[in-house]
Amino acid sequence: MTDTAQADTAQADTAQADTAQADTAQADTAQAYDQLLDGLRKTFRSGRTRSLDWRRDQLDALLALLDENEKPIMDALAEDLGRPPTEAYGADIGQPKLEIRHARKNLERWARPRRVLAPLTSQPGRAKIVAEPLGVALVISPWNYPIQLLVNPLAAALAAGNCVVAKPSELAPACSALLAGLVTSYLDTDAVAVIEGGVPETSALLEQRFDHVFFTGSTRVGQVVMEAAAKHLTPVTLELGGKSPTIVAADADLAVAARRITWGKYLNAGQTCIAPDYVLAEASIRDELVERMVDVLGEFYGPDPRSSASYGRIVNQSHFDRLVGLLGGDGAGEIVCGGEHDREQRFIAPTIVIDPSPSAPVMQDEIFGPVLPVLRVEDVGRAVEFVNDRPKPLALYLFSSSADTVEDVIEQTSSGGACVNHCVVHVLPSNLPFGGVGPSGMGAYHGKAGFDAFSHRKPVLTKPIWPDPKVMYPPYTELKDKVLRKAL
Ligand code: NAD
Repeated sequence: MTDTAQADTAQADTAQADTAQADTAQADTAQAYDQLLDGLRKTFRSGRTRSLDWRRDQLDALLALLDENEKPIMDALAEDLGRPPTEAYGADIGQPKLEIRHARKNLERWARPRRVLAPLTSQPGRAKIVAEPLGVALVISPWNYPIQLLVNPLAAALAAGNCVVAKPSELAPACSALLAGLVTSYLDTDAVAVIEGGVPETSALLEQRFDHVFFTGSTRVGQVVMEAAAKHLTPVTLELGGKSPTIVAADADLAVAARRITWGKYLNAGQTCIAPDYVLAEASIRDELVERMVDVLGEFYGPDPRSSASYGRIVNQSHFDRLVGLLGGDGAGEIVCGGEHDREQRFIAPTIVIDPSPSAPVMQDEIFGPVLPVLRVEDVGRAVEFVNDRPKPLALYLFSSSADTVEDVIEQTSSGGACVNHCVVHVLPSNLPFGGVGPSGMGAYHGKAGFDAFSHRKPVLTKPIWPDPKVMYPPYTELKDKVLRKAL
């Protein structure tokens, strides 16, 4: 054998050994997940998670987890995302606490069987709807609000009496590790498990048969998740992304609009699923709106946002490169503010771009970073057309002082949620369902909607033994047919 042939054989042997090793690791992971699921299913079948006391205990434990670990949570958010403490508290501790307290307070009412009137055709009889926990749920979360977006669906699943496997995002590793440790210390580990990891681990988990999959992340991965769930006919809730438009009418209070849009956009350095993705401003006020937003940026983050303690960082260098790539090229628009960036620090200054071409990448894909295109539109009607020509977004924002304009825009557009004269804050009221529509998502959660997402509403009709009219039973006769037709 020649030296080259020997080297080729050795290389082929190494590749074969690597494949065999990978196969063994995959089989080990699958076996570990089989065992995990068996254990969780056993807990679920024992009935322990159905008791309201158990559910309350778990919600109290989740509250304690957040209350007693503010500092480690904020440190992990600072490490992963350079998140300022106030934003860290508001979005990843305060908001989930609101949700958990709301579920804790309303749990008994939501879980109570709801009597409904049995219609005449079903009399005598009693009808009710029972909220039944689904079983073992899988919760997969993203990195941008890594605590909130794992804790909220977890709380909803526990409130509804389920067992849960939660998979935090590998792109926020400090938060992922912290959550894994805290969930183990605070919650019932026979009923809740955290699996850390990325695509291989999530793919292996998705091979398992769950009773519900709750996914928050990109539209692309949402498709992967739904396809995997379809193999087991497992129902899914998909909380996805998209480009959320912000329409500013000429009659809007521009000072308020500028302040609120700027806040909603640059919060968490623009890495918010419901951040205003782009602005459509009526031509007569577009320039004034931009000028005001530039002033507001100065007020919020000072002359050098890089040194502002109130401004975050991009999660990793690959997202940094993607975002910087949006700032140049054909039709990318004119940068009127910001544009500075520093790869080492994963810093991109709050940036406003005017008049990009609708076909430029910045107007095609979800931006998910601190770059805000502001386009000029003739009027609100044209803005509505622009929105309706594109995939249904997760959120739509409208700034206007005219009740008619507000009514028209809400009626003529479709979006997961909408907020008038503000941005992002529609995520706060626990009694408003939160979710997308079409490519921005499927299903909803928060408050009762979350409880319902993790419950099966089982209809139960109870009939007395007597009477038992023979009219419905064979042998069928003309008379029985007539009676049936009268009744139904
Ligand atoms: P992502 O889709 O890349 O990842 C989300 C999760 O899916 C992570 O846990 C990841 O490990 C897992 N994952 C990634 N690729 C996978 C694959 N091929 N197979 C199986 N699992 C896989 O999303 P992201 O980058 O973490 O988050 C950003 C996106 O999430 C944005 O589009 C944003 O709009 C959206 N988002 C939506 C909401 C909402 O509530 N609707 C909230 C936050 C973020």
